[in-house]
Amino acid sequence: MSTIFSKIIAKEIPADIVYEDELCLAFKDINPTAPMHILLIPKKELLNLSDAEENDQALLGHMMIKTKEIAHSQGFEDYRVVTNNGAGAQQSVFHLHFHIIGGRSLNWPPG
Ligand code: C5P
Repeated sequence: MSTIFSKIIAKEIPADIVYEDELCLAFKDINPTAPMHILLIPKKELLNLSDAEENDQALLGHMMIKTKEIAHSQGFEDYRVVTNNGAGAQQSVFHLHFHIIGGRSLNWPPG
């Protein structure tokens, strides 16, 4: 089920990486929708949030905590974290990713 994001994790294709640790990687979205548009992905190959299980709690919690650090490193206090879960929700890359978006006034509700 490897996707292009696995190639980014493996450094087989370039990406503008802004954060990396043993569990996750964050890079600038290639098609940004805001001044800050980062994708935060687990190194573990999970299809999406629905693919996560109880034993992924620590991984997901770690990633949620890291969103603040990543946004702050880009100079933003306020930001939105969103994940598209499934094709019907506009998921296009089937490797779990959290969009971290900020730097402009965001509309609500999305979609
Ligand atoms: O939530 P969704 O699956 O639609 O988001 C995928 C995101 O991955 C898009 O925002 C797209 O611009 C981004 N992308 C990327 N680099 C790639 C392929 C896709 O940043 N090589």
